[in-house]
Amino acid sequence: MTDPGITVHWADVIAQKLENSGPHTIATGITPSGPVHIGNMREVMTADAVYRALLDRGVEARLIYIADNFDRLRRLYPFLPESFKEHIGKPLSEIPCPTGCCGSYADHYLVPFLESLETLGIKPEVYRADVMYKEGKFVEAIKTALSRRDDIARILKEVSGRDVPLDWSPFQAICECCGRTNTTKVVGFNPENETVDYECQCGSKGTVSMCGGGKLVWRVDWPARWPIFKVTVEPFGKDHATAGGSYDTGKRISEEIYGYPAPFPIVYEWIHLKGVGAMHSSTGIVVTIKEMLDVVPPEVLRYLIIRNKPEKHIEFDPALPLLNLVDEYDQRKGDSRALELSAISGSGPFDIPFRHMVTAVQISRGDRDLLIKVLQRSGYDTSRMEEILGRATNVEKWLDKYAPSFVKFQVQEKLPTAVNNLSPEERKGLGILAERIESKTAAEIHDLVYGVAKDLGIDSKKFFQAIYIAFLGDRQGPKVGWFLASLDRDFVKSRLMQASIPK
Ligand SMILES: [Zn+2]
Ligand SMILES: [Zn+2]
Repeated sequence: MTDPGITVHWADVIAQKLENSGPHTIATGITPSGPVHIGNMREVMTADAVYRALLDRGVEARLIYIADNFDRLRRLYPFLPESFKEHIGKPLSEIPCPTGCCGSYADHYLVPFLESLETLGIKPEVYRADVMYKEGKFVEAIKTALSRRDDIARILKEVSGRDVPLDWSPFQAICECCGRTNTTKVVGFNPENETVDYECQCGSKGTVSMCGGGKLVWRVDWPARWPIFKVTVEPFGKDHATAGGSYDTGKRISEEIYGYPAPFPIVYEWIHLKGVGAMHSSTGIVVTIKEMLDVVPPEVLRYLIIRNKPEKHIEFDPALPLLNLVDEYDQRKGDSRALELSAISGSGPFDIPFRHMVTAVQISRGDRDLLIKVLQRSGYDTSRMEEILGRATNVEKWLDKYAPSFVKFQVQEKLPTAVNNLSPEERKGLGILAERIESKTAAEIHDLVYGVAKDLGIDSKKFFQAIYIAFLGDRQGPKVGWFLASLDRDFVKSRLMQASIPK
């Protein structure tokens, strides 16, 4: 029984449903046809949350990731060179890297994605589709699909409502002459020899092996892998979940053709990055997961996804709201189970507020020793050096890419000329601050600023502005007590003194 006052986390709700039918294999799969973005990442993080929730209940579970690198290149994406036109129709694993830096087109996008998984503390067993096909793991499934072609075509028509062409085949041969799969037509097959005969639009014809000479079409490939890997749970995007879509057809093909129950489905919604537009690998409008990790600490990125139910659309604003998200994570203000499921081994919550890091990084301006000094001046523990430097890098990239202009500042080396416009009371206040600031902590300075303003009858907001003008030449700045505490105290005193002297 669950306490009615407590909302059970969605991953636990799913784990609860599954706990008596284990052991479980949770499968994820992404086609590495372009930069892997934060939207794709939702699939793997959703799977990982359920995986962890199952393990927490003592249920035996595996997490697997299948790279669909044997899929063909569908078109010339905007991020590809014009010369890649000739590769359209070829399997991604068989196309060269677009920039010549690695083994294949597929690896070019797959490898950084796998690295990001590691950063995010996700450790699936990784399988590459091309390797599995070439090793013959799909041979039985291919034979079954070819011999029951008519039954599959009937299911596809019944479920999707679309006519299946007379020459349709569940298998796509790779033309031995031109390397394409979208131009070939299956004309026969031999189950004993495990071969398929084809004709290609390029004019050639031939016979390929069921071991790597081609692949099953997506709608058959997906259910075919369920019994191969004994998949019992699978998250997928809502595009596959439409009525008559590939999960619906896959479910019937799995049950009626392969005699295997379809996995428990977890449908997830898209992530929309504000100011960037809807993310689709195919348009090139993406923020890659790597770019996101430059700015967002990995456990916070996990939290962004895991705290939301998979069916909930996520609207993520990487500008100012990112700071709130990081603080919510660090200060443990949010959903405690989501926080737990987002943690990456070892690291407890980080106790320096991200907002303060934004101040400290702008004061130290790339000087790491000074950064540590600045943090110590404002009273923070700096023993977790590696994390501090990681977060400093996050903040620098954030300032560069997403920060609104009003959070950016620069401490002026010389007394800004704008101090000439300060009123006599404001000047007097700055002089009093200079005298009393000695050895005060950030919080004490904060109170002092309010106290001085009150004593002199100045509007506190105006007095804050006077301070920012004296140091930044601007009317706004970071939280005043913590800002002043972060700076060298002698510098603060002399600057306040200078600003207090009438011109
Ligand atoms: Zn490459
Ligand atoms: Zn051909």
